Amino acid sequence: MADIMTKEQRHKCMVAVKGKDTKPEMIVRRYLHGLGFRYGLHNKKLPGTPDLVLRRHKTVIFVNGCFWHGHENCKYYRLPKSNIRFWKEKIERNIARDERDMKALRKLGWRVMVIWECELKTEESRMRTLHELKDKLNSPYPVYYNTFVEAAEPESYYGLND
Ligand SMILES: [Zn+2]
Repeated sequence: MADIMTKEQRHKCMVAVKGKDTKPEMIVRRYLHGLGFRYGLHNKKLPGTPDLVLRRHKTVIFVNGCFWHGHENCKYYRLPKSNIRFWKEKIERNIARDERDMKALRKLGWRVMVIWECELKTEESRMRTLHELKDKLNSPYPVYYNTFVEAAEPESYYGLND
C-alpha cells in the first residue's frame, strides 16, 4: 500500500480489511470510521432505511446481501432448488422495492451508493471496493451526482447499443 496514509489510518484500514466481524456492513463502517467519516445508521425516516447516512456528503450507503437483494449475475445470488417460484417472486419484490427507494432518495437530493457483499469477500476486492468508496465520497458532489443520476436512469441507455 502506498505511503499516503498516516500510520494510524493504515492501521485502521488494515483492521477494517482483516477485522474479526466480517459482517459486510461492519467492514464498511469500520473503514469509514477509521478515516474520520461521520455517519448515522439505519435512518428510518429515509426511503429504504439506508444502512449509513453521511449528511455532510449528502450520501447514503446501502450494504446489500447478494441473495436478498438479487445481485444480478452474481454467484451468490442463486435461488434455492425448492420453492423456486416463491423465492423468485420474493427477491423480485425486493429488487423492485430497492429501485423505488433509490429513486425516491435521489429525488430528495441524496447521492446513493450500493456496496455488494460479494465486493467485500476477498481481501483484495475488499481493499479495492473500500478505496473506491472513499474516492467517490471525496469527489466533488455536484459533478458526480449529475453523472450518477443520468447513469442510474436506464432510459438514458436507449439507443446506445444499436
Ligand atoms: Zn454479489
